Amino acid sequence: MHDLTTSSYHVDTEGYYGPFGGAFIPEMLYGNVEQLRLTYRAIMDEPEFQQDFHRLLRDYVGRPTPLYFAPRLSECYNTRIYLKREDLNHTGAHKINNAIGQILLAMRMGKTRIIAETGAGQHGVATATVCALVGLPCVVYMGELDIARQAPNVARMRMLGAEVRPVTSGSRTLKDATNEAIRDWINHPEDTHYIIGSAVGPHPYPDMVTRFQSVISEEIRTQLLDQTGRSNPDAVMACVGGGSNAAGAFYHFLDQPDVRLIAVEAAGLGIHSGHSAATSVLGTEGIIHGSRTLLMQTDDGQIVEPYSLSAGLDYPGIGPLHAHLIRSGRAEALSVTDQEALEGALELTRLEGIIPALESAHALAAIGRAAFQPDDVVVLCLSGRGDKDMATYIEHLDQSSETSTP
Ligand SMILES: *Cc1c(COP(=O)(O)O)cnc(C)c1O
Repeated sequence: MHDLTTSSYHVDTEGYYGPFGGAFIPEMLYGNVEQLRLTYRAIMDEPEFQQDFHRLLRDYVGRPTPLYFAPRLSECYNTRIYLKREDLNHTGAHKINNAIGQILLAMRMGKTRIIAETGAGQHGVATATVCALVGLPCVVYMGELDIARQAPNVARMRMLGAEVRPVTSGSRTLKDATNEAIRDWINHPEDTHYIIGSAVGPHPYPDMVTRFQSVISEEIRTQLLDQTGRSNPDAVMACVGGGSNAAGAFYHFLDQPDVRLIAVEAAGLGIHSGHSAATSVLGTEGIIHGSRTLLMQTDDGQIVEPYSLSAGLDYPGIGPLHAHLIRSGRAEALSVTDQEALEGALELTRLEGIIPALESAHALAAIGRAAFQPDDVVVLCLSGRGDKDMATYIEHLDQSSETSTP
């Protein structure tokens, strides 16, 4: 593998991607974050750590995930589309890659207790899973409103042995759960590690999460070379909530200017409808969860509640790497509404027999807008499977399914 660490699209020693990133944290958190900053690279670079990480990815998660050439989808869009099948991972999405990496790191740091925040519950389930795997106690903070909306994931976390702590402050959703997790960490600096679930948060989290997820693009290069004779595609597409699956899918192509990077955001009911999560269009620079990045906020700095039918994309910010990639022009940003994503999910299901997560369906729905050529090789990160979204699909798709059979 090349050493890419000197490139401008990678984090600098201060934790910045261009003007974005850094670590804006309360004094009380300084010790925890500093310990992580000083040790994460050294631990991750240990051959024994890499061996443990890759053994678990192989034997427990089921990696490498296939790179699947989708013939009927390709025909439909008159280009060559390959799906990176993160939906086939244990627990159903890419989030487990990061959770495995961080639990191994926590153990190397001597931590004996794990905390996490979760919105829809996908990251909570991944964290509860790895805690069961290694036998560490796990506390997941979750907004009271989300607990009511995501009952199956709450049940999964509890069955896995995690304690799910309801958060009753604020809007009782993800950002309030994050605040509670941070408060817990301040109170338990010695024994606790906080597993953040996306490429967000104070440095070193965005870089650490990106590196754990970079196994996605590492595999894409090898698999594409095998299947097509070249390791660079013409484009890589991924949906972006906080940005971890996109960061992992882009990582080894960041410094390959011939590879288009396409980030797809949730436009909810429409970018300018007042019910959207299209951060790269609506966001302005500010600080959220310890990082300077693009976020949706009012003129006086109040965070605007995001909206997307897809819980995993329902985030008011975007990771600092993506803010930099988009603002510098290295990555293109597209956005897709709830309705378009639902149609994208049905289309993949009918053309390829794969029911995608609603988040991944956003990337699928943007294919037609990316102006690909017939010879282009396009890799799309299929971040997760649709099991968790069946209630949403049943509610929204029963009429259109009769009429839109391709
Ligand atoms: C959580 C989630 C996402 C969004 O998170 P990123 O950090 O932006 O990748 C996308 N897809 C699935 C299936 C998820 O569970």
